[in-house]
Amino acid sequence: MNCQRCSKKKKEYEVWNNKIVISATYDSEFQNHDEIRKMDDKSIICHDCIQAIKDEVNQGEK
Ligand SMILES: [Zn+2]
Repeated sequence: MNCQRCSKKKKEYEVWNNKIVISATYDSEFQNHDEIRKMDDKSIICHDCIQAIKDEVNQGEK
């Protein structure tokens, strides 16, 4: 499986799928991020990219 954002090949435990993203984050700003909105049932995003998106969202708030 390849990360939707960085396209790197990742193992299952290294990624978040759509369901995890929705259930693990209650942050609507995060869930409204373009990259998250692009996700469908089969999309996955690696932990590195999740962190990068979180950082982007946090910076946007300031
Ligand atoms: Zn990635």
